[in-house]
Amino acid sequence: SDRLPTIDATFRAAAAAGPAAPAVIDGTSRLSYGELDQRVEALARGLTARGLRKGHRLATLIGNRLAFVELSLACARLGIIHVPLNTRQRRPEIEYALNQCGAAAIVHEAASGAELPDPGAVPDLRLRYVVGGSFAGSEPYERLFESPAADVSRAGVDEEDPFAILYTSGTTGRPKGAVLSNLGAVHSCLNYHHAMGLGPADRMILAVPAAHVTGLIAIVHAILSVGGCLIIMSQFKARAFLELVERERATATLIVPAMYNLCLLDPEFDRFDLSSWKVGAFGGAPMPEATARRMREKCPLMALFNVYGSTETTSPVTVLPRDAGPDRLDSVGVVLPTVDVRVMGDDGREVPAGEPGELWIAGSTVVPGYWQNAEADETAFAGGYWKSGDIGSIDAEGFVRIVDRKKDMINRAGYKIYSAEVEDVLTYHPSVTEVAVVGYPDPVLGERVQAFVVVHRETNEGELQRFCAERLSDYKVPDRFIFVDGALPRNPNGKLLKNALRRWNEPTPA
Ligand code: ATP
Repeated sequence: SDRLPTIDATFRAAAAAGPAAPAVIDGTSRLSYGELDQRVEALARGLTARGLRKGHRLATLIGNRLAFVELSLACARLGIIHVPLNTRQRRPEIEYALNQCGAAAIVHEAASGAELPDPGAVPDLRLRYVVGGSFAGSEPYERLFESPAADVSRAGVDEEDPFAILYTSGTTGRPKGAVLSNLGAVHSCLNYHHAMGLGPADRMILAVPAAHVTGLIAIVHAILSVGGCLIIMSQFKARAFLELVERERATATLIVPAMYNLCLLDPEFDRFDLSSWKVGAFGGAPMPEATARRMREKCPLMALFNVYGSTETTSPVTVLPRDAGPDRLDSVGVVLPTVDVRVMGDDGREVPAGEPGELWIAGSTVVPGYWQNAEADETAFAGGYWKSGDIGSIDAEGFVRIVDRKKDMINRAGYKIYSAEVEDVLTYHPSVTEVAVVGYPDPVLGERVQAFVVVHRETNEGELQRFCAERLSDYKVPDRFIFVDGALPRNPNGKLLKNALRRWNEPTPA
């Protein structure tokens, strides 16, 4: 089974090929592949000794750090399903996800500022560990490495076995757990190796959250399955990122366009030696033309790759190749070999070639469905295709362009915010009668979040922001509130006219 396309098998192969090669750099810690493999084996033993087995769910609530990588690999070795949660989530979101997947264990981080589930709120959760400090009710993470007697459970992990569950919001209902398979994860890694020419000499920076699909697949596992070095940044800051590229001679990364914008805004950008940086991938959102042009001027040796993907597609669907001509810069590139994309009209039929329609996506890298959520499967998938909610077209040469979006989503620096989730929260505020959440353009972040509200009782922006912040991840909290007199614009059927609100640029505060 070591030859099966599983995340563990690919990591073992890389470790066997170059045990002395650098695997991870995390601050002052540096581990070779041999050392990392030993830690993963010890951790797998510790997890086994505590009764965790193939198919159980282990959640992590930790930022970008070595422990995240070790846990992801140890879970993959045992067939335990890793559920990475983002530390920016609030307690109600966290408790919901833990209960929905029936997590048996959680590893959290003392210093992350993350909120923890209330004891008793998650009945299945029997093991709690804490990284990087102590915390009442949680055992120290390092103790998981001290279980000499136990053997690692060798249940055997197959390619179709789940590898991770990633919670993703949607236009309706609660967040859904996309179930990433081992095969899908390995194929996505191979797609990245191939499209970007990654190899064992590459040194790739993790600057996006490891708990999201890009960080988890495009960075952590893509680089560790090819024998390259993973350089961890706990939190993105433009200056620190540029310093890290220079100091560690980083060769590759995938970050969101907003991060390139922030790098370009650094007044000392020109001072840094970025000559090692060959692969500058970006994804999660479109890159403004000016950003791409300025990056090309400053780093002429760097190949800028546009990657279009999503959680449900285990990251990449298309990649814009490095030799795509200047007339292709508005494209997200060509469909990857493991993927099939159809362009569909509202009538559920394929549109004529070249016309725009909703992108439906299938293939080994598309998740088979959501964790125990038949209703969401029913709406989001059809005939093996995942309905992306993105409107795009494919030209005669196979280049895909994303032209619009069908889903009511706001893209704030690559973080996706589904309006419905924020609207649901605000509806519970005692002063709010009506609410509509839409995006507005921002030169650095791409989009920001604004809420149009009708109130029947005195309140103010600060109060509404605090109300949201207690219930929603910080990036989902509206950046501004616009108080509307009377009623929000609706069509005769009562549907909110969000486009009218989006055009309502300078509204009058109440
Ligand atoms: P991550 O969650 O790690 O940021 P992601 O953005 O690939 O990764 P999702 O959060 O699931 O994944 O969001 C997917 C959506 O983001 C797509 O359906 C699309 O609307 C948008 N998107 C992703 N990549 C691009 C891109 N290169 N250009 C334009 N839009 C993109």
